[in-house]
Amino acid sequence: MLVRTISLQDYRNVEQAEVHFTDGVNLLVGDNAQGKTNLLEGIYLFALGKSFRGAKDGELVRFGADLASLRLDFAAGGREQSAVMRLTSAASGRRRAIELNRVRLTRTSELIGNFRAVLFCPEHLSLIKEGPAVRRAYLDIAISQLRPVYLRALQRYNVILRERNKLLKVADAEPRLFRDTIELWSAQLAEQAAVIAPARLGYIEAVQKTAAVIFADMTGEREIPDFTYTPGFHLDADRCADPDAVRAQVLRLLSSNLEREKAAGSTLWGVHKDDVSINLNGRSARLYGSQGQQRSLALCMKLAEGEICAAAGEMPVFLFDDVLSELDSARRAYLTRSLTGRQVIMTTCEREVFPDEANVIGVERGVYRGFTASAKPKQNPT
Ligand code: ATP
Ligand code: MG
Repeated sequence: MLVRTISLQDYRNVEQAEVHFTDGVNLLVGDNAQGKTNLLEGIYLFALGKSFRGAKDGELVRFGADLASLRLDFAAGGREQSAVMRLTSAASGRRRAIELNRVRLTRTSELIGNFRAVLFCPEHLSLIKEGPAVRRAYLDIAISQLRPVYLRALQRYNVILRERNKLLKVADAEPRLFRDTIELWSAQLAEQAAVIAPARLGYIEAVQKTAAVIFADMTGEREIPDFTYTPGFHLDADRCADPDAVRAQVLRLLSSNLEREKAAGSTLWGVHKDDVSINLNGRSARLYGSQGQQRSLALCMKLAEGEICAAAGEMPVFLFDDVLSELDSARRAYLTRSLTGRQVIMTTCEREVFPDEANVIGVERGVYRGFTASAKPKQNPT
């Protein structure tokens, strides 16, 4: 997987730009608020189908314009490909339009998996110490890029969950509607959980294998990390490999606790309550790990995401937003070493951090300028 070029028009603070990337390290350098993260967000849009900063389409359209266009030229599966996104604000009444290799797609989900990238930004450094939602998001983003079936199940699950929660909230006001439909929603939720849980379990097992090696290599520590799937529906993790067992368990919990769920006004069991428990030498890294250990583990999870994606067929593109400045020199050196030979696009305000061989792109007020070797800003001007 390689990004060749991204072309932007009326996107964020960019009026028009065409930015070319090399196969190795590409560095976006510029002061604050110039458009570095905007560019990474634009590239990652093609992997994720949405903004990683949670922005709505309309927020991606340049102030005053009514349509943002992005085009990504990339190499994948041994051939050159291109994808186009046209984004509009909700107020325009028009929907976003997506093309892959000149073919119009009907849904964003059809795009996902064609271009694969791993994003790492400072928020990911809290993957260990934050609540379960960030770890579920980590799993969802990683697995969706590898398995379209997972993404479809997840989207359905979320729709069903919303509807079921709505129904639980109106249960007392509309007892008949509740009685007639709740079982149906429960069965449908269990059906999708039976796709999601085994995939999450499988992915965490892959993380376990990969990250343990990376962690030992990175820290030289003897402590062994352990990643375990913790399903949000009281089933032993190893039984989650069996879709029938998951379906039966979720359904059992949902049908036998309706009164509790009515009182809570929400669905109390299911994969939306899943977590990953992360231990070091058998103790919770969240509760007992030092800040440094937590950061190393988070970095491991991100590097493992890249390795797992590579094992599934192709090395992804690595996108790093401002992350180097957050790492101490040992971790920074490890990261630089482990990404040799891979395509990396990273942003930084500090000109000093980049390796000599990097392709440096200066960013200023939404304008991206490549530096030729002689014009490259020097660490120690002579
Ligand atoms: P930092 O180093 O602080 O992270 P950055 O270079 O990564 O900075 P970006 O987040 O890429 O900064 O860009 C932020 C700039 O983009 C802000 O000045 C913001 O006002 C501008 N911006 C964001 N959305 C839009 C939009 N829809 N139209 C015009 N400008 C926008
Ligand atoms: Mg930024």
